[in-house]
Amino acid sequence: MVKAVSSHIVRDEPLIFERSSPGKRAWQLPELDVPAVDPEEALGAENVRAEIPGFPEVSEVEAIRHFTRLSTWNYGIDLGLYPLGSCTMKYNPRINELVARLEGLAWPHPYQPESLAQGALEIMARLEAALAEITGMDAVTLQPAAGAHGELTGVLLIRAYLESQGNPRKKVLIPDSAHGTNPATAAIAGYGVENVRSNQRGMIDLEGLARAVTEDVAALMVTNPNTLGVFEENITQAVEILHAKGALVYMDGANMNALVGIARPGDFGADVMHLNLHKTFSTPHGGGGPGSGPVAVKQRLEPFLPAPRLKRASGAWSLDYDRPWSIGRVRAFYGNFGVLVRALAYILAHGGDGLRNATVDAVLNAVYLRKALEPYYDLPYPDPNMHEVVFSDERQARRGVRTGDIAKRLIDYGFHPYTVSFPLIVHGALMIEPTETEGKRELDAFIEAMIAIAREVEEDTQTVLQAPHSTRTSRVDEVTAARRPVLRWKPECDGKSCS
Ligand SMILES: *Cc1c(COP(=O)(O)O)cnc(C)c1O
Repeated sequence: MVKAVSSHIVRDEPLIFERSSPGKRAWQLPELDVPAVDPEEALGAENVRAEIPGFPEVSEVEAIRHFTRLSTWNYGIDLGLYPLGSCTMKYNPRINELVARLEGLAWPHPYQPESLAQGALEIMARLEAALAEITGMDAVTLQPAAGAHGELTGVLLIRAYLESQGNPRKKVLIPDSAHGTNPATAAIAGYGVENVRSNQRGMIDLEGLARAVTEDVAALMVTNPNTLGVFEENITQAVEILHAKGALVYMDGANMNALVGIARPGDFGADVMHLNLHKTFSTPHGGGGPGSGPVAVKQRLEPFLPAPRLKRASGAWSLDYDRPWSIGRVRAFYGNFGVLVRALAYILAHGGDGLRNATVDAVLNAVYLRKALEPYYDLPYPDPNMHEVVFSDERQARRGVRTGDIAKRLIDYGFHPYTVSFPLIVHGALMIEPTETEGKRELDAFIEAMIAIAREVEEDTQTVLQAPHSTRTSRVDEVTAARRPVLRWKPECDGKSCS
């Protein structure tokens, strides 16, 4: 039943400790040509060990093959489709990596005199301008290091602004479809969180919203398109309800892949928003690398932006620290500069038309997937989706198969799973985001796999329930792994499982 898809993967690789044989080494040092020093004298006897127990002794080729084989267990965007919804795991052009590594861009010191950093400052200024144009906002800070960090910066800006008006207020409203970082952000910024329920179409319920907006409400945090991948069609009315009561609108811009070049949050009324450059603008996402979460604001919030701000006077760029209303720094220096370079290179290389095409293709791909999979998977919110589509496992659950089982089976077909069980308002969610960088052939292969799994659920349920079959380890005990992780190798275990 299991389709062989992963012949390049070596699955019986032992731990490097198990490969060890005494006396083997992966290095050769030349004869000592300086006077020898007694290590105990130099380091102190307590710091010198005659033997390191369990230290792996292997040859160079064994070390290289070991780690190269381990790398084949990994799944990455360079191997195939990575359909994690809410994450935008797209392929990012290699050329932007090259640009970010140019010597003059990779090596400037953050404290280099401004006169010697004009190029770097101009890159940041041009990126700020491009992002302001794309979002329809008036000013941008590049300091925040990730989306959640941008959210915190944005809500602190709202607080500072409202405080300057005499009252920071008490609550932030958040739709029940929101990403978990939204309520966390509001709480860390000192606000109480109030949930607004979505209506039956998964959108903001305007009547419920109107009831919830009191003089205590500082802001609404809204994601658009929302986490169902559906555009909030009443967004301008929602903004009016907030503004009428003196509250602001924060837009979570993580889903900008569906809007760039098509719609601008500034035009539909957002006061402040963040972008995830590592989702939308060409920085590889995941793997824990640096990200960037620039924050864009309307003019009335500009005085509060983190200092320093870029300033141009008599043809030269400088950094302006004289910002009495600023919320202060949110990060050392000026943001993750390498990520900023990639974003500007990506924006300039695409140009306006190219960016719009990327958006159109992202939406087209997701709609194509929805149409092909709709006959096989339940679609709880049937409004037209944009860059991602959210199914539920309702049909499969009747045979005891849940979204997590389908995701595990997808691994056997050679694909990374989609986002499992999010957003929370969909029970048993399958959240799929193909992104614009997938071609028809890859999408068709994914569709074929999803349909094959839907059939297996009916005809061969156990195969799905016991998946994956093609990986070195099949199902792990996720609860124990999270609660009691074993992070240390002990020589006495010697490859046997022991905790
Ligand atoms: C990814 C994401 C975030 C958080 O961004 P990070 O860069 O991971 O901190 C916030 N909201 C939504 C909707 C997201 O998809």
